[in-house]
Amino acid sequence: MKVGVLALQGAFREHVKILHRIGVEGIEVRLPEDLEGLEGLIIPGGESTTMGKLAVNYNLMEPLRNFASEKAVWGICAGMIFMAKEIGMNQPLLGLMDIVVERNAFGRQADSFKTTLNIPVLNNGYCKPFPAVFIRAPKLSSVKEPAQVIANLPDGTAVAAQQGKWLVTSFHPELTEDLRFHHYFLKLI
Ligand code: GLN
Repeated sequence: MKVGVLALQGAFREHVKILHRIGVEGIEVRLPEDLEGLEGLIIPGGESTTMGKLAVNYNLMEPLRNFASEKAVWGICAGMIFMAKEIGMNQPLLGLMDIVVERNAFGRQADSFKTTLNIPVLNNGYCKPFPAVFIRAPKLSSVKEPAQVIANLPDGTAVAAQQGKWLVTSFHPELTEDLRFHHYFLKLI
């Protein structure tokens, strides 16, 4: 199986490494033709404004939307922002998911934090908390049907959602040794 990782900027190498570790070929995507033959796509964390501008410059916006209309896509942090329909700011968005995202919702870089989350979709019958790393993270201020919240912070803030084969997380599973989110994404594929 081949899974793409959008490699315009941000934390794409970490995902490619994890994909290799779990026996999947990870392909760096920079041009529309790189999407050919892929089963799914990871849009990594980084800086959503830069990522959006580069995607526009490389003529990737329509090819990415077409790809997503049939295939699984997982957006992490900046990738979650890029996949949203609404963020209340003017920057290029794929506009796929019925979610409203607030950028930098937990403050600045210094306010990055690590916690553990209970994520029922990952826990096939047993309950092992998932380590979640938040780096200048966005939050989901609204999740509308058919999108569903799949993880919350203890105060109720929604930080992960799914809409069919599309997945978004505010936090960075590629920075932990827990590969359950990557396996979950492969299951959606
Ligand atoms: N704050 C970044 C943005 O708004 C996202 C940070 C991240 O991807 N870790 O795009």
